[in-house]
Amino acid sequence: MSEEICDVIVIGGGGSGLTAALYTSRANLKTFLFEKLIAGGQIAVTNEVENYPGFPELITGPEIAMRMEEQAKKYGTQIVYDEVKSLKKDGAIFEVASSSKVYKSKAIILACGASFRMLGVPREKELTGRGVSYCATCDGAFFKGKELIVIGGGDSALQEGIFLTRFATKVTVIHRRDKLRASPILQDRARQNPKIVFVWDTVVEKVIGEKKVEGVSLKNLKTNQTSDFKTDGVFIFVGHDPNSKFLNGFVELDEHGYVKTSEFLTTSVPGVFAAGEIRAGAVKQLVAACGEGCEAALAAQYYLENA
Ligand code: NAP
Repeated sequence: MSEEICDVIVIGGGGSGLTAALYTSRANLKTFLFEKLIAGGQIAVTNEVENYPGFPELITGPEIAMRMEEQAKKYGTQIVYDEVKSLKKDGAIFEVASSSKVYKSKAIILACGASFRMLGVPREKELTGRGVSYCATCDGAFFKGKELIVIGGGDSALQEGIFLTRFATKVTVIHRRDKLRASPILQDRARQNPKIVFVWDTVVEKVIGEKKVEGVSLKNLKTNQTSDFKTDGVFIFVGHDPNSKFLNGFVELDEHGYVKTSEFLTTSVPGVFAAGEIRAGAVKQLVAACGEGCEAALAAQYYLENA
């Protein structure tokens, strides 16, 4: 499609992007969706989703992702499994450069989400995949009968920590404060789980191990005392960073790198919209991401009809 200009390019195939593409495709707008890995975004690596309305019996993240992808494709979305490297506007037309070629469109929906944040401590990088993990759904089963630590005090740390107790004999949650950020329902569940133990006011200073994880060095922030802690695996859930580096000044971002939008999900560039976790102020829940995907699609449709 070197010279073909499509109506909408959606960047990102998580809940917000897939919903946006479903809406624009169903509105008969020629839609391309770019996804660099697998469709689904963060839900593709979430084991069970309990708070997406309509599935009281529980549904897994990968299953929702697969169904959303199928639904968008059913109405004509063309999914391009490639990474977007940069964006440019030439008159009223956007040029989206991927690793392999340049695609053109009349409107853009940024739905590129956020990626897990690394701790940034020594040996973390080298031991990733050798006991350090950011995905319980992907790696939990490798730790049957082992003792694990989880770092973080938010919803991800507790939800994934609880999931890990299916395999591990013990899960120690290490949190830098003495108060959890996670929602009360997950806090209650974690506290009632006999395999979960909490270590408060403590940070990991380095991961220990040559070929695989053998432990971590800890520091208590209240007493400044340091100690080594033996463990077979380190699961890190300390939040996310926006996937906005490729935008490189193309649209206005906030001080944390999230895309600034109006209440109609327009950005600083006419014809560019943003939805889901990439957006400053997003609530970071699947149902909200999908809602924003819908809103951004309707705003793009309005823009194209009135351009
Ligand atoms: P989060 O809410 O930002 O929590 C990150 C946690 O990591 C916090 O407890 C934070 O400590 C800690 N942390 C951050 N940097 C750290 C560092 N350098 N060293 C040690 N600890 C560090 O991230 P999240 O848990 O991934 O959740 C992200 C969003 O997704 C949230 O809005 C959450 O509600 C949502 N989510 C929802 C569900 C669900 O509804 N079931 C599941 C997963 C995620 P402090 O508390 O001290 O800041």
